Amino acid sequence: MSKAVLNDKKCKGCFLCASVCPKNALSDSGRINEKGYKIVALDTEKCIGCGACYRMCPDWAFEIVD
Ligand code: SF4
Ligand code: SF4
Repeated sequence: MSKAVLNDKKCKGCFLCASVCPKNALSDSGRINEKGYKIVALDTEKCIGCGACYRMCPDWAFEIVD
């Protein structure tokens, strides 16, 4: 099954991805990245690889891989 892969160095903490994930696989990680943004966490167990996060993220932080 396809899965999302998150590059959290690109994340700016807008959480638009979390708002569109049909599986609630994206949530607040409680961590800050090196640019100082609060970052999202991806639960790969819940992810079904639908690509909604990939399409929504304005900063291209996701890849969908097989
Ligand atoms: S949409 Fe992109 S920038 Fe916004 S929280 Fe999700 S991964 Fe981070
Ligand atoms: S690929 Fe789909 S299911 Fe997986 S994290 Fe992104 S929006 Fe959620």
